[in-house]
Amino acid sequence: MDKIVMVDLQKQYQKIKVEVDAAMQEVLNTTAFIQGPQVQQFADALGKYNDVEFVIPCANGTDALQIAMMALDCKPGDEIILPVHTYVATAEVIALLGLIPVFTEVNADTFNIDVKQIESKITSKTKAIVPVHLYGQCADMEPLLAIADKHNLYVIEDTAQALGAVYTFNNGKKMRAGTMGTIGTTSFFPSKNLGCYGDGGALFTRDKDLAEKIKMMANHGQRIKYHHDVIGVNSRLDTLQAAILNVKLKYLDQYEAARNKVAAYYDNALASINGIITPVRSNNSSHVFHQYTLKVRGNKRDALKRYLEDKGIPTMIYYPVPLHLQKAYVREGFGEGSFPLTESLSREVISLPIHTEMIEEHQAYIVSCIKDFFNN
Ligand SMILES: *Cc1c(COP(=O)(O)O)cnc(C)c1O
Repeated sequence: MDKIVMVDLQKQYQKIKVEVDAAMQEVLNTTAFIQGPQVQQFADALGKYNDVEFVIPCANGTDALQIAMMALDCKPGDEIILPVHTYVATAEVIALLGLIPVFTEVNADTFNIDVKQIESKITSKTKAIVPVHLYGQCADMEPLLAIADKHNLYVIEDTAQALGAVYTFNNGKKMRAGTMGTIGTTSFFPSKNLGCYGDGGALFTRDKDLAEKIKMMANHGQRIKYHHDVIGVNSRLDTLQAAILNVKLKYLDQYEAARNKVAAYYDNALASINGIITPVRSNNSSHVFHQYTLKVRGNKRDALKRYLEDKGIPTMIYYPVPLHLQKAYVREGFGEGSFPLTESLSREVISLPIHTEMIEEHQAYIVSCIKDFFNN
């Protein structure tokens, strides 16, 4: 049996190698490495896919978040509400800009920000809410957007893990992750659902003026070369990466279907095991399964991880230490016990291998090993 991996980028590349190599060769032939035509082509294609007017590519998903906050004139001391169960990047850019990260507990089933707790976090200093569409399904955007509207707050959707996920509003209207708030951000890190072969990211918005401002922020604060209106950053998507993404975007729906097939297999095979809880699908969002994340009861998570490791099965913990307990983010009054649910998730969650090239032989083996562990 081949080695089991969390994400099989090698096999995925082999299937599209001819197209990708040709696209890269074209860039090499023209040497338009920065802002070549492929960058705007990709932005247009992604805008069409996401049904959003403006897509501004940038260097990575962390930059995208930072640029979003800069473009919205977030100033030192402003408070930004975000889920405490997320990747560090979300909190990092907030802190870097001198803003205050206001951590909020998540929903035990969906792992996304608990919208019911948002209003109690709002103060006169609150500037924005940053929902993170974690593991591949959308946070509950309809009530979240209503709260933002009521309190006049911006919404920045961190869509790094959920590009392509579809949220359905009560009136039946459907929108893609990242296109519902003021700005959406995403990442093309190689292992994300739409990954390039290096770093990449993008921002989405429906507001023309804001799109202009985002573009300016990502380009040294200039609209006209060598005329700097505001302090910006240098954050670009390389032409080579855009060329690769142009090829891969065509396969995104197929990739999503492949991930959902893997998830459905796990769901079926693992549902009956006492001691684990398979992912709960939220009512109003599709799931693009960036991660397939189980909850393991009874303090057995780490033992399960070790057991699977011994059987040649890799797993990952997203995330082992909650943000409010990370050394860099400790704040007065936010010690152990401040976010009990997130703290218990950090001891319970485990993500299984899931990717576009998964074969049934591997899945059957993974499932049988998990079953063996719980029968012990
Ligand atoms: C990956 C990720 C990011 C950061 O993306 P990079 O491209 O690695 O900078 C931000 N937020 C979340 C939730 C992520 O998973």
